[in-house]
Amino acid sequence: MTTPPSAAAPAAATAPPSRWCCRTVELAVRVLPNEHRTRYGLEFVAELYDLPPAQQRRHAARVLTSAWALRTALSEPVPGPNGGTAVIITTTKPLTCRLNLHHRWQWCSTEDGDRFERCQKCGKDRTEDVGGGPIEHASLGW
Ligand SMILES: [Zn+2]
Repeated sequence: MTTPPSAAAPAAATAPPSRWCCRTVELAVRVLPNEHRTRYGLEFVAELYDLPPAQQRRHAARVLTSAWALRTALSEPVPGPNGGTAVIITTTKPLTCRLNLHHRWQWCSTEDGDRFERCQKCGKDRTEDVGGGPIEHASLGW
């Protein structure tokens, strides 16, 4: 059952979605991980019910074109079982630090009161030598 595109009256919004839009959504959902297919398939088809026919087609096309992105998002690791958020620890320095092009220096002080600068991104220290220019050394050994 299809309605003509010109029937954008409020009554058309409650009409069932077109079969082709449902098929398109079902096709898009096939690329999702198995455990998510039914849920997203039902949600996407349910969203079609609220739309006039022209928007149903656009919505179905949008679901189809973004299915791979949704698959990628659903395939990423989920938070731990105790509800904590995942912490991503990077072991590499930012590229600008590795190339020694730009560091984000922040003033710090040692226990005995000496002041020095440390990069907030990579942890590299920059100390001022009395007789010369700045001496840089990596404090974390990266
Ligand atoms: Zn740095």
